[in-house]
Formats: sequence, C-alpha cells, structure tokens
Amino acid sequence: MKTIDTVVIGAGQAGLATSRYLTAEGRDHVVLDRGRVAESWRSARWDSLRLLTPNWMTRLPGWSYAGSEPDGFMTAAELTGYLSCYATSFGAPVLEHTPVTDVSPMAHGYRVTTLRGSWFARNVVLASGPARTVPTLSRRLPSDLHQLHTSKYRRPAQLPDGGVLVVGASASGAQIASELRRAGRRVVLAVGSHTSLPRRYRGMDIMWWLEQSGVLGRTIAEMPDPRAARTQPSLQLRGGTSGEDLNLAALADLGVEMTGRLIAADGSTVYFADDLAPTIAAAEARTRRTLDIIDRYAESAGLAAEVLPAVPERVLNVHEGPRKLAPRAAGITTVVWATGFRHSYPWLRVPVFDREGHVLQYRGITAAPGLYVVGERFLHRRDSSFIDGVRYDARTITDHIRMSSRAQRATRRAETVLEGAHV
Ligand SMILES: Cc1cc2nc3c(=O)[nH]c(=O)nc-3n(C[C@H](O)[C@H](O)[C@H](O)COP(=O)(O)OP(=O)(O)OC[C@H]3O[C@@H](n4cnc5c(N)ncnc54)[C@H](O)[C@@H]3O)c2cc1C
Repeated sequence: MKTIDTVVIGAGQAGLATSRYLTAEGRDHVVLDRGRVAESWRSARWDSLRLLTPNWMTRLPGWSYAGSEPDGFMTAAELTGYLSCYATSFGAPVLEHTPVTDVSPMAHGYRVTTLRGSWFARNVVLASGPARTVPTLSRRLPSDLHQLHTSKYRRPAQLPDGGVLVVGASASGAQIASELRRAGRRVVLAVGSHTSLPRRYRGMDIMWWLEQSGVLGRTIAEMPDPRAARTQPSLQLRGGTSGEDLNLAALADLGVEMTGRLIAADGSTVYFADDLAPTIAAAEARTRRTLDIIDRYAESAGLAAEVLPAVPERVLNVHEGPRKLAPRAAGITTVVWATGFRHSYPWLRVPVFDREGHVLQYRGITAAPGLYVVGERFLHRRDSSFIDGVRYDARTITDHIRMSSRAQRATRRAETVLEGAHV
C-alpha cells in the first residue's frame, strides 16, 4: 500500500480545481479517475450539447477562458479540451483508468482501494461527480420500450424509429425534447418541477445578471429550505449563439406534447398526474421572483437606464396532453429519462451519511477528520456545482487540509515533549 498525504477522487472540474490548490501548496497528492480527465464530458453528454454558462464563466483556480468568444458557449468536446489543458498546465498528478472501489477509515487516515492498487491517505477529497438517477417506476414500463437516461443519449438517429416519451423538463429534458421534435419525432414531454429563465434579459445574458445580482453567490445558510434548494432542478435554458429561449412555450410551438409527471405504469400503459397547470404556475412564479431580484439589482446599481427595459415574460397556455398513454398503440418506442443526477458514494465506508444518503458536511468539510467533499449541488454556494463556482469550495477545503496538518504536527510535537518530560 502506497502512502500519500491526500487522495482526490475524480478528475472533473471539482477534482482538478482542488488539485490546483494542493499543487500550489506543494502538497503530496494524487487524483484518481475511473476514466480520463473530464470523463463525464467525454462519455455522458449528447453530441449537440453546449454549455449553459458562457465561456467567460469557466474560471478555475489559476485558469480562465482566453479565446476570442467570451460570450460563446463551449461544446462538451471543447470543455473536455479546456479541462485537459488545465490539468496539463500545472501537471496535475492524475492517474487515469483507476476506479476507486473502497474508502475505509484507518488510524490517522483512510485506505483507498482501487482496481490498480491501494493508498493510505491522511486526507481524501470526494470529487466523483453526480450519478444518473432513474426512478424505480422504469421497471414497470412496457418491456418492449427502449429506455435510456440522458447521460446515454447522443443523437436522435441513435434511437429506434418512432415517438419518444421524455420524462423531465429541466435543462436536459427540454433540450433533448426540442432536438427530437426538430428531427421529426413525435415527442411527449412529462413535465415535473422545473425553473425557466430567458437566455437574455434586458439585453444581457442571464448568467451575467445572476452573477452580478448575487444570486449565484447566495449560500445555503441563506436559503429558507436548504433541502429544497439542493434538489432544485437545473434551468430550462439553451446555450447557443442565437440567444433563443428554450422554455415550454418554445417547445409547444415546435409541437412537443406536454403532460404532467409520470406517476404510474402497469406493463402496457403509463399514467401521468393531472398537475401540468400548477407545475407551470409554480415555475412561472419562480421565474418572476428571480427576474424581480434582477430588476431590483439593476435599479440599486444604477443600471436601469443603461440596460433594456423589462419586457413581461410570455405567459404559457399549454394544451394539456394525454393523462394516460399506451406507448405501443401511440407509436412511442423510446423513453428518455431526463430525471437528473444525484451524488452517491457506494464505495465510501465512512459513517458520514444522513438518512437519505447525502454526505453531511459544512462547506465541504465532513465530521470525519480528513474527509472532504466538493462539487455537490449547493454544497455552500448556489454555484458550488458549476464550473465557475467550484473554486470557492476547493479553496476552503485546501485551507482546512493545511490548517489541520499544522494542528496535527503541533499535537505530535506536544506529545513528544510530554513523553520526554515523563522519562
Ligand atoms: C448535461 C449537463 C450539462 C451541464 N452544463 C453545465 C454548464 O453549462 N455550466 C456549468 O457550470 N455546469 C454545468 N453542468 C453541471 C456540472 O458542471 C457538471 O455536472 C460537472 O460535470 C460536475 O463536475 P464534477 O467535477 O463535480 O463531476 P464530474 O465532471 O462528473 O467529474 C467526476 C469524475 O469522477 C470520476 N469518478 C466517478 N466515480 C469514480 C470512482 N469510483 N473512482 C474514480 N473516479 C471516479 C468520473 O469518471 C469523473 O471524471 C452540467 C451538468 C450536466 C449533467
């Protein structure tokens, strides 16, 4: 077993940002990834995906976008290149193709077991990213339906001929529904809780407003319901050069049929809740609240005269789609689960989980000495899981590792002094 100060698990943006700070401090560490650097962007994104955040909003510790299109939106392949160059820029000690299979506590540290050997590490940073979630209901769907999660979706031609039921209308579901409809497919979209914002507002990109107005920097402690804040779905938004919106109104214009949440299936028929109208009303109220924050910020910052005037958002009048559907009879051959992601650590044998399986932490620091987590949704700030926001938590964790090491060294010295005094 090799001995090292810190093991970072995962070489996505969260693991690399942490590694960048550890490198700057000269801390002996290794970054283990089951695949390659930026593996999620290589193998779990669809072909046409563009980031929702503009290029200028990809600031990592010691690294930022230097290209000619700061207001453009990277493809997944471009982001893979961006993160790979980042890792190379500081010689990140990444060991690729090294899946972690077990992390267990030992005296003064952890044993990290991989398919390519074990490490004893004083500190372990969990940066393994979110895993896809598919509801158990998927097992009760007609057996002849082709089912896949968005992380396995690449392009319309990959799916069997016929219509598609897309379950979930957040960023991924809305984008994939739009792409499939444009490719001539019948698309039924089961709409769950979502948040929609215009791509551009008052003449500026929405992400600029969210940053400037402080929305992205709000911390979990400021949230009235932290649990709800952490499970809030991603924004219905499209990243692209055209600045067009991607919301339910745009999808309705394309001919996407919308219905409520998928709630049951009996082997031949699937059933939807009668909740489309209240779901849309709740989403519109959330949109309005966020735009009000932006308007208030524009006023208080004296920007109101410089930006465009506020134009009321288009009110959505969606025709309620089917309440139940026999997929075969309706020509639906595929279900795309756009049901999101959730962090899970099945290989972590340290008792730091709450009853729902979330790692209990404060600013990425767990109660288990030397065990940290980074990259989770709303870990501390609203943008904790964003490329641009992970640096704050990576900094906090690295500071904590440094201070803990100093404290441990001081304790060991004190123990030595005491032992000497007793001799
Ligand atoms: C479709 C989609 C679009 C998104 N668009 C944006 C956007 O536009 N802007 C933005 O800021 N954010 C966006 N995000 C959110 C976020 O930036 C990504 O989820 C990002 O990939 C999270 O980075 P991460 O480093 O936390 O995790 P990941 O990128 O998932 O990296 C985790 C790494 O850990 C490795 N790993 C996992 N398990 C193990 C193991 N057991 N052993 C070893 N290695 C392991 C994986 O191979 C992976 O490389 C998007 C997310 C999704 C899903």
